[in-house]
Amino acid sequence: YGDFNQKIDYVFKVVLIGDSAVGKSQLLARFARNEFNLDAKATIGVEFQTKTLVIDHKTVKAQIWDTAGQERYRAVTSAYYRGAVGAMLVYDMTKRQSFDHMVRWLEELRGHADKNIVIMLIGNKSDLGSLRAVPTEDAQEFAERENLCFMETSALEATNVETAFLTVLNDIYRIIS
Ligand code: GDP
Ligand code: MG
Repeated sequence: YGDFNQKIDYVFKVVLIGDSAVGKSQLLARFARNEFNLDAKATIGVEFQTKTLVIDHKTVKAQIWDTAGQERYRAVTSAYYRGAVGAMLVYDMTKRQSFDHMVRWLEELRGHADKNIVIMLIGNKSDLGSLRAVPTEDAQEFAERENLCFMETSALEATNVETAFLTVLNDIYRIIS
């Protein structure tokens, strides 16, 4: 396991963005280490985690960046977006405001990132179905209008997390190779 002695064909930088507390860090922990920490502290200082996988017989290192508590509007620096070929735009499906803010995050992302960046809209916390505040159709409609992929996930229950990341990484691969 790991990168030991492995030849890396591609490194793909993917950034996580969205309001604070939507579950970005837990999505990353789930994808990179298959972990979920119920009482995790707010992210401090962790820049990115990597996961190496094989796509089409090539070794791809996914370098996934997590905001270090910079989620206030316009506080994420351009260095964060620099070189990103993928982005996960995350809202909490139980918090309408976090979905309404997707417009701003997308605008900020498009202002900083490469034109060909692959973007996935993610409605996280699907395990909290009874508290849903964002209908699937609203998100689908937004995603179609903005030309984004869309998935609902649960970092807690590990639903669709791997699928979401792998979809983005495969799309990036298809564009780059
Ligand atoms: P971040 O600020 O976007 O990085 O959010 P965190 O990953 O720190 O998560 C914020 C809070 O939401 C924490 O209390 C997590 O335990 C919780 N959380 C994250 N993902 C899920 C999920 O899929 N389901 C539920 N029920 N809670 C989640
Ligand atoms: Mg975090």
